[in-house]
Amino acid sequence: ERTPLTLLGLGAMGTALGRSWLRAGHPVTVWNRTPARAEPLVDEGATVATSAAEAVAANQLVVTCLLDDASVGETLTEVDLAGRDLVNLTTGTPAQARALADWAAARGARFLDGGIMAVPPMIGVPGSGGYVFYSGSRELFDRRRETLAVPAGTTYVGEDPGFAALHDVALLSAMTGMLAGIAHAFALVRGENIAPKEFAPLLAGWLTAMTAAAHKAADQIEHGDYSRGVVSNLAMQVAASGTLLDTAEEQGVSAELLLPYLNLMERRLAAGHGDEDTTGVVELLPKPVP
Ligand code: NDP
Repeated sequence: ERTPLTLLGLGAMGTALGRSWLRAGHPVTVWNRTPARAEPLVDEGATVATSAAEAVAANQLVVTCLLDDASVGETLTEVDLAGRDLVNLTTGTPAQARALADWAAARGARFLDGGIMAVPPMIGVPGSGGYVFYSGSRELFDRRRETLAVPAGTTYVGEDPGFAALHDVALLSAMTGMLAGIAHAFALVRGENIAPKEFAPLLAGWLTAMTAAAHKAADQIEHGDYSRGVVSNLAMQVAASGTLLDTAEEQGVSAELLLPYLNLMERRLAAGHGDEDTTGVVELLPKPVP
């Protein structure tokens, strides 16, 4: 079944999405603020609209993939959305997604928000591992599922329109810690007689083995018991962290990427939780309610 759709936003990601739908035989109407950026997809069979309003008028299914929440607001502000299935694949915060859902509902549109867990080269490539978190209208998701599954896998995470963004940002936040760790590890070994290409598989293998920590943390958080299944307790880990800091010092490397987390571990230890797992630091993260 060929589902016609409208795509607003032809940056790196929008272009990759549009190309995947065109290749799967779906008629695509496109619009981009800078018209020249539409040319590659027009060459591949897309229909170009001269305004966002004209593009939205062309099809019931409308996908936005713009820079940020503000650009979505700017693009859709004067557009008639009545009866549209609006799918927003622009990265934003949960609150922005919820506000956009209310705004779309007030204009008579059904709404689904998406968080893309892929980079453009993974789009439209089966088995690439890329997928999109979706949240919002379950009815819209079920009805449009096949079309939405063309660019990447689909993972629906709930009716709350903010949940796709929340899942997306939670995963990206965890990745940030991992990338910080990779940068610190390379800083430690750099300048020694250690080949980066020989070190990399050791690092990747270790990080992969350590991902089991996510499952253990889930079990402890679910049971409200940070001592469950503890192997290396907090007291031991804080003691061992002295070696991490001393080695950074010896290698002439700043410990600034490690310190925020190590400081939280020390605070948790000082509060008497030495027998627990490091998972307990989550108790220190909620901001006090003003
Ligand atoms: P690009 O910077 O390549 O493209 C940005 C797009 O937004 C362009 O089409 C640009 O139009 C448009 N835009 C910016 N400001 C406005 C505005 N005020 N009004 C109308 N249009 C505007 O970004 P990507 O395509 O890479 O990313 C798009 C979305 O996808 C982002 O939210 C990003 O976070 C998300 N994403 C991207 C990934 C990636 O690896 N690239 C990975 C996962 C998610 P113009 O051409 O006129 O400047």
